Amino acid sequence: MKVVKTIEEVREAVRGWRAEGLSVGLVPTMGFLHEGHKSLIVRAAADNDRVVVSDFVNPTQFGPTEDLESYPRDLNRDAALCEEAGAALIFNPEVDEMYADDATTFVNMTGPSEDLCGMSRPIHFRGVCTVVSKLFNIVKPDRAYFGQKDAQQLAVIRRMVRDLNFDIEIVGCPIVREADGLAKSSRNTYLSAEERQAALVLSQAVKLGQKMAEDGEKSADKIVDAMKKHIEAEPLAKIDYVKAVDAVSVSPVTEMKPPVLVAMAVYIGKTRLIDNFIYEG
Ligand code: AMP
Repeated sequence: MKVVKTIEEVREAVRGWRAEGLSVGLVPTMGFLHEGHKSLIVRAAADNDRVVVSDFVNPTQFGPTEDLESYPRDLNRDAALCEEAGAALIFNPEVDEMYADDATTFVNMTGPSEDLCGMSRPIHFRGVCTVVSKLFNIVKPDRAYFGQKDAQQLAVIRRMVRDLNFDIEIVGCPIVREADGLAKSSRNTYLSAEERQAALVLSQAVKLGQKMAEDGEKSADKIVDAMKKHIEAEPLAKIDYVKAVDAVSVSPVTEMKPPVLVAMAVYIGKTRLIDNFIYEG
């Protein structure tokens, strides 16, 4: 496995593989990899002859008051995890390799990017769509892998690929959780011991909502209200949003008519965590 820093090195490796008739999978990440990322790489390695993992903390998807500077980074540890999971190449560019100083072209989306995280992070999905489009153009993979952990991101990418005719199959992968239920996240490292315990309200609320839906509750509002009540009982938790939306269009729903995405963002202290479930009926 190789770690490369330039777009040209990625293109050269992919050209070599293509000359041999090999298929290529891409796993876009911001690094500080954990078992959630690993599950995407393992799946990509099972589906494709070669896997490229991008490891890049993308500045254009962070707002001015967000954690761009403090976002955790550890390339050596990431490389070991990628190798073990079966990746062939890590692309770890510096910011100036990805963005010219005078770059002025961005991928803007309306619709699926506007509600949920799009409300509290207004430029986030513009940054995500732009960097993912660039990675698609650099790697030109057959397939790209995204986690259901970021369910809105997955819906946004699917819409972008359809609307812009990228010839790439998008594969969604299930949420990987800690033994006690907390969804794995690079940001969990920000949590103190007390906050780590308090953070369990997210996955507990997911379980509660999921059970209500499976038991036949048809009112999305009742499910969301019960989940909110559970979270609000934890003093360290502050809700950004808990909402039920259509899982494809990401527009609000009042009825649990599948597929419904029930998603949340909750601050535990200063750390903003997300979790969700999809009700498929
Ligand atoms: P990130 O590095 O946080 O931008 O995540 C890179 C990719 O890994 C995204 O597609 C995420 O949805 C996915 N991912 C992150 N955490 C998890 C998790 N706990 N389970 C499954 N996929 C995840």
